[in-house]
Amino acid sequence: MSLTVVANRLPVERLDDGWAVSPGGLVTALRPVLRESEGTWIGWSGEAGDAPEPFSADGIRMVAVPLDETELEHYYEGFSNSTLWPLYHDRIRPPEFHRHWWRAYSAVNRRFAQAAARHTPHDGTVWVHDYHLSLVPNMLRSLRPDLRIGFFLHIPFPPLELFAQLPWREDIMVGMLGADAIGFQSVGGARIFRRTARHFLDVSLRGKTVRYGERSVRVEPQPIAIDTGAFVAQASTAEVDRRTAELRAELGDRKVLLGVDRLDYTKGIRTRLRAFETLLDREPEWARDAVFVQIAVPSRANIGLYREMREAIESTIGRINGRYSSSTHVPVHYHYASMEFTELLAHYRAADVMVVTPPRDGMNLVAMEFCACRLQDDGVLVLSELAGAAHQLRQSLLVNPYDLDGIADAYGRALRMPLDEQRRRMRSMRARLRRRDVHVWARDALATIGAGTGARSPNPADGSQ
Ligand code: UDP
Repeated sequence: MSLTVVANRLPVERLDDGWAVSPGGLVTALRPVLRESEGTWIGWSGEAGDAPEPFSADGIRMVAVPLDETELEHYYEGFSNSTLWPLYHDRIRPPEFHRHWWRAYSAVNRRFAQAAARHTPHDGTVWVHDYHLSLVPNMLRSLRPDLRIGFFLHIPFPPLELFAQLPWREDIMVGMLGADAIGFQSVGGARIFRRTARHFLDVSLRGKTVRYGERSVRVEPQPIAIDTGAFVAQASTAEVDRRTAELRAELGDRKVLLGVDRLDYTKGIRTRLRAFETLLDREPEWARDAVFVQIAVPSRANIGLYREMREAIESTIGRINGRYSSSTHVPVHYHYASMEFTELLAHYRAADVMVVTPPRDGMNLVAMEFCACRLQDDGVLVLSELAGAAHQLRQSLLVNPYDLDGIADAYGRALRMPLDEQRRRMRSMRARLRRRDVHVWARDALATIGAGTGARSPNPADGSQ
């Protein structure tokens, strides 16, 4: 079996003397298969303009697809991140529909499909990732009918009524249905996709299978996971021990609530801080006995909406700290920066309560990483019901991310939770994360595409979901 992965980005960073693989769950999970099969990863290098020649990094062959500045603006910031991203995240912000963005999206998808067609051997398997590349499966199928093709959507699939707004909705459906198997983060996502396909196209449904023309497409939930073992090992090093102790000393003898997110409107950062303010209004002693550490990782800063959101968050923090700081303590610590990995792990370990409150999120890996790093099985996770992770981490304190009073209630409960209850909950979440890690995920997903067995992709009409 030969595997080609197609994703918007190559999993690499440029160094002075070449390229290094950047750490990430997807590349970790697929590295063994890619190495064994002398497989290829196809994606954008991160640099506008001409692409470097194919190169090898960490035993993986990398093929860079060129994107120029205008394409980055129209395909990436435009159609991917200002049309599909907000539309698929429940329209938390209004999507923009522009025909020139769509044209760039189609052209760039075609380029990715052509690269996959050129670099995949006969009868190989191609696994296409995410919303940037929805048209690739069908384009690739017309170029290379011999291939097995899988598609995985990392973000949510929206309700039919929202998807219906997209002027190019049929094109996107047809594009995705070029795959033999399509994976979603949740049972609901897969189900909505099947229903949407039936609504807009001439297809029939049998169990998890969509029958489209002469072909059968397997559509099922494949919730992604993390490399749990690696997180446990890396969180246990002497360096992380030392940094955790330092952080705890810096933060003083108080309870630590922690948020770690890309600065994105899908993360619910401002609402979670307003809920902390609600807690302080109710019980002002927490202004002295607790600290809320919010790390906001810069993201998509070229998009105006993201700049406005940053200002709104920072002004909310200013207000809370203006109201509740004392001469010795500031209740909200805010860092607008990305973190070194050691620093991230130390934060996960130093916190008492992890706060993850997206109004919509495909999965949310931060919630999983926090649990994996709780080596003593203590700590509490406050988690949005509307993140995919809520289906995996049932023993968290689940909240409606729009409900300020409900989130404030959960903070109060988390801050007071007895250790034995913390351990009971955390143990069971950690056991699940060990059982269903990213390696299991990749193996199962590839088996569904048909790559694992070398047989045609399974197609039983099992009637479930
Ligand atoms: N992360 C990072 N740099 C940081 C903080 C976090 O690369 O400074 C990582 C974090 O470990 C996690 C990912 O970014 O693996 C965020 O994934 P998640 O699913 O939570 O959200 P996304 O940003 O993909 O929407």
